[in-house]
Amino acid sequence: MVLSSESPKLATSDLSFEQALGSPLTKQGIQVLQINLGRRCNLACTHCHVEAGPHRTEELSPAVLAQLLEMLDRFPQIRTVDLTGGAPEMNYGFRPLVERSHALGKEIIVRSNLTIFFEPGFGDLPEYFARHQVRVVASLPCYLQDNVDQMRGQGVYDGSIRAIQQLNALGYGQDPKLILDLVYNPPIPTDDDFRLTPSQGALEGDYKSYLAEHFGITFNHLLTITNLPIGRTRFQLEHRGLLTSYTEFLAANHNAANVSGLMCRNELSIDYEGNVYDCDFNQMAGVPAQTPAGHPVTLETLLAADSIDAIATVQTRSYCYGCTAGSGSSCGGALTD
Ligand code: SF4
Ligand code: SF4
Repeated sequence: MVLSSESPKLATSDLSFEQALGSPLTKQGIQVLQINLGRRCNLACTHCHVEAGPHRTEELSPAVLAQLLEMLDRFPQIRTVDLTGGAPEMNYGFRPLVERSHALGKEIIVRSNLTIFFEPGFGDLPEYFARHQVRVVASLPCYLQDNVDQMRGQGVYDGSIRAIQQLNALGYGQDPKLILDLVYNPPIPTDDDFRLTPSQGALEGDYKSYLAEHFGITFNHLLTITNLPIGRTRFQLEHRGLLTSYTEFLAANHNAANVSGLMCRNELSIDYEGNVYDCDFNQMAGVPAQTPAGHPVTLETLLAADSIDAIATVQTRSYCYGCTAGSGSSCGGALTD
């Protein structure tokens, strides 16, 4: 299900993100291609903004995979290929994209839930990642077991720890070419005592000392990612009557210092059908990127135009305050922590 981009209740001028910026958010030269390979996932986490799960069937078609491989070949300005889902490893297009990107010398990121390593047919993933120097960005919403199992499902914490130990044994977290980052997602608010996402630097210290002491685990960076009110988060906030007040809280904590680092400025987010968005959040909210003439952007139109810099301004909505509140948030963590 694709959610509508905004609740009518939120379409008020005081929550207009563009108004807070004072001008439209300009796009810069594209350097990052984030590809969502599909909605299928072995987990079904409560905070999942893409509403992924084991029964979702949407996935990349062979024609879109061919267009993506052509994009990588034709546009050397793409420095980073960021693969996400669902569980991107479950898609048949995952390995061809990794291998082409590796051959072209691009940075490769996989957003992995780690527990996929223990599903039948995926046991070789840790070695595969290491061989292709894939940077692993893995969700571990808390360093304490109860909180993780509550958000992601029973047994997910143990599986994640075992998977990180496997990655460590291959050099992840120690070899400078094998980067392992963990992701912290705050819990979804259950009442109106809203809190900003905690300091990334301080929390990273807590994670590192707890995980080293209890499991002998090492990793590179902790990335804190704020819950944006879309997908399952939006649904839960709406269910509790907190959607408007949470968005207002984020807007009240808008920090202009985060705007220059917003990830949507230099990335394209691609869906499994080849449609182009300014970021993964817009993709999940069904808000496509547009050319200055107001036309939707697709892989096909970019390849036909022989340019990936076809977008002048980012499509913003009230949930964008989740990226600028406090220390900011992006797929790469806080922006000004
Ligand atoms: S592992 Fe990631 S993609 Fe899968 S359900 Fe959880 S949050 Fe969503
Ligand atoms: S949700 Fe965040 S990354 Fe996406 S367009 Fe808004 S500000 Fe940019």
